[in-house]
Amino acid sequence: DAPVDASFLLRWLDTSATVLDREANRLTLLDSPIGDADHGTNMRRGFIAARTAVGQEPPDTPGGVLTAIGRHLISTVGGASGPLYGTLLRRAGKQLGDEPAVGAERLRDALRAGVDGVAQLGGAAAGDKTMLDALLPALDAMDTALAGGGSTTEVLDAAAKAAAEGAEATTPLRARKGRASYLGDRSIGHQDPGATSSALLVAALADTARE
Ligand code: ADP
Ligand code: MG
Ligand code: MG
Repeated sequence: DAPVDASFLLRWLDTSATVLDREANRLTLLDSPIGDADHGTNMRRGFIAARTAVGQEPPDTPGGVLTAIGRHLISTVGGASGPLYGTLLRRAGKQLGDEPAVGAERLRDALRAGVDGVAQLGGAAAGDKTMLDALLPALDAMDTALAGGGSTTEVLDAAAKAAAEGAEATTPLRARKGRASYLGDRSIGHQDPGATSSALLVAALADTARE
């Protein structure tokens, strides 16, 4: 089972930037009916900038990598998603401290702290049709897989599956936070772009563990 160290998270960053570049149009299309059609552009810009900047001076701890990515997202992504994802990664990075490598359980704890930070900053809860509707089920799936003695790969696969299902399950929801909430009932019937990008980021974690 691969330890989650700085190199692991740098590979995750590389995969994430590639996936977001590839999926940017789809994310922006999702953000068209219930937003301002920029989510793909925002995410692509942020992760490509983070990959370049963090790659130039790579931190040597997993916490350092997450904190650095979070900082770059906050400074390069406009819109709601930049500060929210930035907070998630900075909080998670801070939680890992300066440990050189962690296992799936410590990673779960760090992500839980980061997702709590998103909920605090944005004031959203489960069912509000936001990125939390992918992230919270992913954390719960990690809990279950860890309790069952799963390997890091199994734990992250379970998280990726739950995040993808959570993102799809946002379609019938009415948005209660963010831009989409201005539409009221007209937000119903569209998948949330931020939940979709969250599912892509969690899938990239699982892919990194499997490589
Ligand atoms: P903006 O809405 O400012 O254009 P983006 O399009 O990049 O920003 O991101 C929109 C996504 O951000 C939404 O799909 C939703 O998942 C997420 N989001 C918006 N507001 C919140 C919030 N208060 N809490 C959690 N996530 C939110
Ligand atoms: Mg938008
Ligand atoms: Mg915007």
